[in-house]
Amino acid sequence: MKGILFRKSPMTDHDPTSISEFHAHIYFEGAMARDHAYALRAALLSDFGGTPGGIREEPGGPHPLPDILVHIPVDRFADAVPYLMLNRAGLSILVHPETGSPVADHTENALWLGAPLAIDVEFLKAFEKRAAQRTA
Ligand code: ZN
Repeated sequence: MKGILFRKSPMTDHDPTSISEFHAHIYFEGAMARDHAYALRAALLSDFGGTPGGIREEPGGPHPLPDILVHIPVDRFADAVPYLMLNRAGLSILVHPETGSPVADHTENALWLGAPLAIDVEFLKAFEKRAAQRTA
């Protein structure tokens, strides 16, 4: 055992209280998947404290398929995510924290339910760079 698996990385020092909320991006392709994505959205809004986010009927931003975004409060992660795990019916769902670092939040910090999709990281890098320039 070389111990590399247990070596402390600087990336392990992020404070989870920096998470303001979670995003659930529910991806769909085709009419049946779209209907199911809308049903999951309705359940998150009615039963899990979710608030509505954007709906893309076409791929857009860093997202490679149409998707429905629902904002999940931090204190509802523990019941919302298991619900999605058990009810996603084959859909791919990206659950990511919002920490103010879009690239990290959509990549190394992200949780995929179902098959991961290829997020456009270059898009996110450009977005993050523009945001940093605005606040500089
Ligand atoms: Zn998001």
